[in-house]
Amino acid sequence: MAYLTLTNINKIYPNGFHAVHDFNLEAEKGEFIVFVGPSGCGKSTTLRMIAGLEDISKGEFRINGELANQWGPREREIAMVFQSYALYPQMTVYDNLAFGLSLQGVDEDVIEERVKKTAKILGLTDYLDRLPRALSGGQRQRVAVGRSIIRKVGIFLMDEPLSNLDAKQRVTMRSEITQIHRETGATTIYVTHDQTEAMTMADRIVVMKAGYVQQIGTPREVYFNPKNVFVAGFIGEPPMNFVRSRLERGSISIDEQVLNLKPLLGDKAAAYDRKEIIFGFRPEHIVLGHQENAFHLTGIVELTEMLGDNANIYINIGDNKAILKVEPHDIPELDVELPFSIPYEFVYLFDAETENVIDLDRPKSVE
Ligand code: ATP
Repeated sequence: MAYLTLTNINKIYPNGFHAVHDFNLEAEKGEFIVFVGPSGCGKSTTLRMIAGLEDISKGEFRINGELANQWGPREREIAMVFQSYALYPQMTVYDNLAFGLSLQGVDEDVIEERVKKTAKILGLTDYLDRLPRALSGGQRQRVAVGRSIIRKVGIFLMDEPLSNLDAKQRVTMRSEITQIHRETGATTIYVTHDQTEAMTMADRIVVMKAGYVQQIGTPREVYFNPKNVFVAGFIGEPPMNFVRSRLERGSISIDEQVLNLKPLLGDKAAAYDRKEIIFGFRPEHIVLGHQENAFHLTGIVELTEMLGDNANIYINIGDNKAILKVEPHDIPELDVELPFSIPYEFVYLFDAETENVIDLDRPKSVE
């Protein structure tokens, strides 16, 4: 196992494009870190710098405290799984799994033992004689993962390994990878644009946007205490609802419905007077009807989506759109007025200019 330290890491590509800005992270031994963010935000670039496949333009990268910027990929003792599985098409599953160990000159009987053990962990025992083309996407993915874990390295890097699988296979592989991580204990960095993968697999999540780290935290932290509008909107499904409004003497109006924010803003109400703020709440945190210690709003039901264990209600509050998550037996008729409450503890306020969260006087959701 290894620990990794990234200090002010930057990537400037030869064409001058600055893809990663001052990336700082300490990955502890055995930690499962997920880089998440929209396409082009610099996740893969950062991972490739860790792997030694891409030069680090500025900053320091350390493995177990030792400066590793100039180390080649092999010296870093890293295993990497790519989106394209990169299997050898002319080799059987057995040989694909064994190849890396053979190159290292490991004894044949040790290789056989490890191949069998790895195949067992990944449910590939019955497929060892097959060529990759005779496997399903999920099975190929398992071979790719197997080829990495068989080497027993301290650092495991994965770049969107599940993106070629269908939705069901993704869910299965998600839990399998988590389980393999538990068994191998390798420090893992996993890249995805899928926030559900990030939330379900990570010890800590690094949320990125346009080359900048937005927030690093546990799944609970980024969900309950997002630092800015971007993180709040990216983590959570359906995303957080946002309404922009101007604060006037401690209150905002949303389609002429006045919400007094003083209980949350306290002394800060004066500082934000006559400024635009963004009022945020998650679809799953609302309560239908009237509840104490909550803000009350009424919307017109535009669309409903029955999902089985819950339902999404799309509403209009004047010109503002919002989504509410409710129990299936609470699905309203279309076009009716739907009153709902947002408990104070689940309201987020953001400075509309900086888009940073405003610290509020309210019971903390996460301690
Ligand atoms: P995706 O999820 O689409 O893979 P990503 O977050 O992994 O996205 P990167 O592949 O790291 O994003 O790319 C970050 C930015 O760097 C993108 O804007 C990309 O166009 C740019 N980029 C990547 N490789 C190069 C290169 N060789 N030269 C110049 N720019 C590059």
